[in-house]
Amino acid sequence: MTPDQIADLDRNDPLAGFRERFDLPEGVIYLDGNSLGALPKATAERVAAVVQEQWGADLIRSWNTHNWIGAPRRLGDKIARLIGANPGEVICADSTSVNVFKALSACLQLTPERSIILSETGNFPTDAYMMEGLAHLTSGRVEQKLVASETIAAHLDETVAALLLTHTHYKTGRLHDMAALTAKAQAAGIPVIWDLSHSAGALPVDLNGCNADFAVGCGYKYLNGGPGAPAFLFAAARHHDKVFPALSGWLGHKAPFAFSDHYEPGTGIDRFQCGTPGILGMAALESGLDLMLEADMQAIRAKSQALGDLFIALIEARCPQFELVTPRDCRARGSQVSIAHDQGYAIMQALIDRGVIGDFRAPDILRFGFTPLYTRYRDVADAVDILADIMDQDSWTAPQYAVRAAVT
Ligand SMILES: *Cc1c(COP(=O)(O)O)cnc(C)c1O
Repeated sequence: MTPDQIADLDRNDPLAGFRERFDLPEGVIYLDGNSLGALPKATAERVAAVVQEQWGADLIRSWNTHNWIGAPRRLGDKIARLIGANPGEVICADSTSVNVFKALSACLQLTPERSIILSETGNFPTDAYMMEGLAHLTSGRVEQKLVASETIAAHLDETVAALLLTHTHYKTGRLHDMAALTAKAQAAGIPVIWDLSHSAGALPVDLNGCNADFAVGCGYKYLNGGPGAPAFLFAAARHHDKVFPALSGWLGHKAPFAFSDHYEPGTGIDRFQCGTPGILGMAALESGLDLMLEADMQAIRAKSQALGDLFIALIEARCPQFELVTPRDCRARGSQVSIAHDQGYAIMQALIDRGVIGDFRAPDILRFGFTPLYTRYRDVADAVDILADIMDQDSWTAPQYAVRAAVT
């Protein structure tokens, strides 16, 4: 593709206007919004207002006057619009890891006579680790089973209490067929939990259209909520009354301010709250959500697919040293492209040094996330130019690029 053709793509991009709503540093091509979304310009001001005008001036009265107490539900309802859920089916709270635990323990109550919690090998580790914690908590009554992704369907039988799957694979970007797997699991009486960490805000998700049971996901990736932003939990309305929350904190109580000695689950999705929400984190996330809700999700998906296709085509033309790990068919992947190289870590450090920020996932994956609200077609072309130059010059072999940092 010629530079003129790429300039045309940017000129005709219906989402082009969103880029200036983000605070992006000069000279950086940011292809890591799948790991930490960029900073919306409105966020700094919004958070400062909550700190100074609400916390500073109104102090504890803000729980009522600024409706801090309503934040988990309010943000949950906004997230619901991005993932095909109804109002009152999503709560914004805690971390994704904690919400995985809540969803798993809820499923165990729906299927009390079953003992296997099933997932796939090679999933993002926290999902598997939270399963292990539950298995230990129950002294082994509940057992974790991890099977290869392609064999999941063959393991859906009457011993399985819950199926936990990540919709978009964090490393390869591969998408599961949510509708088909949900239907297949439910036919065997198995509730399904979808981890949407790499899907929410990246592509259209239709939880209720798939009759999903539970879902969880991150606020700091495609939702641009800031580092460690609150996460979310979706529970289908039909399940709310059947679950006595395992993490039965006071804010999930029916009447938290009755200060009763005994727990009574709150109404609907409220029971999936646990403790006091982090209001500063909620303020930053709400700013990211408000911005994303202005965009058309179909347009986001179309551009994301085009950016990924362009990246793959340019890499294959210019950098034959890499192996494509992500599905080539854009309908079968999320909003990232991963390529493998056995010197991937050093190559990624050399790229970051030249202003192209992606990330590395052991043992050999270079991962690039495409965030249609602020990634331009020319960013993709420029990133591949720089990568090709690094490979042609062998500049990644410089000793400083071999030093491993704590976070990759
Ligand atoms: C990023 C990610 C998480 C993160 O969990 P935290 O509790 O926010 O650290 C969980 N699951 C998947 C699939 C992820 O990609």
